[in-house]
Amino acid sequence: MIKYIHKKGIFCSTLLDTKIFHGFGTKILGNGIKKETVQKILKKYISHPVYVIIPQQIHSTHVEIVDQTKIDQRYTYIAASDALVTKEKNVLLTVLTVDCVPIIYADVGRSVIGISHGGWKGTLENIAKYVIDRMIELGARKEHIIAAVGPAIADCCYRIYGLRRDEFIQAFGDRVIRYSGDRTFLNLLAANIDLLLAAGILRKNIDYSLFCTSCDEQRFWSFHRDHVCIGEMLHYVMLR
Ligand SMILES: [Zn+2]
Repeated sequence: MIKYIHKKGIFCSTLLDTKIFHGFGTKILGNGIKKETVQKILKKYISHPVYVIIPQQIHSTHVEIVDQTKIDQRYTYIAASDALVTKEKNVLLTVLTVDCVPIIYADVGRSVIGISHGGWKGTLENIAKYVIDRMIELGARKEHIIAAVGPAIADCCYRIYGLRRDEFIQAFGDRVIRYSGDRTFLNLLAANIDLLLAAGILRKNIDYSLFCTSCDEQRFWSFHRDHVCIGEMLHYVMLR
């Protein structure tokens, strides 16, 4: 279950719980675009030095393996990357989303973690599989990987058209589509759960939220709803 922790302004996965330091941010946590939001988390919850990794997201399927050679300062920016994996301790992996799907991954026993940002493009191109492959390279076992899918735009609001609709039906079938009259809506969550299962993640190890970023104006920014990018949600994961 993905539960909301009101006093922190984040969603957490009960599968990861306290074993892995993680969170899916909201408006209440703060705007992820601003460095102060990460600083606030570190100041509140972490008492030792931490390296923060910030990918410059481009809707690709590039996964960066973060090791000691990549970390050169307190805040490290990774070019052209939409997912990060690491087995280093005290390295905070982050991504930002608005309506896109954030996923946090962890093999707790083998101490390998990952995080990804995927919209319609990353979903069609199967970013989840790329993350899982890189985690396995670092020693994770897929039957032990927990994948928590955070809040994104849901099929109540995410209308799709034309070629994009056809591509999703071809890739996933009708089960990721909701029809309403002559309108077609995409269930990005269902598509991402399909990808995780196809990559070998066990159903019992998949956690997800049913909140919609476009419907819940109090907690989420939404480009779909607001038509401008005012702020973005910050998501993070770290091994301690
Ligand atoms: Zn909605």
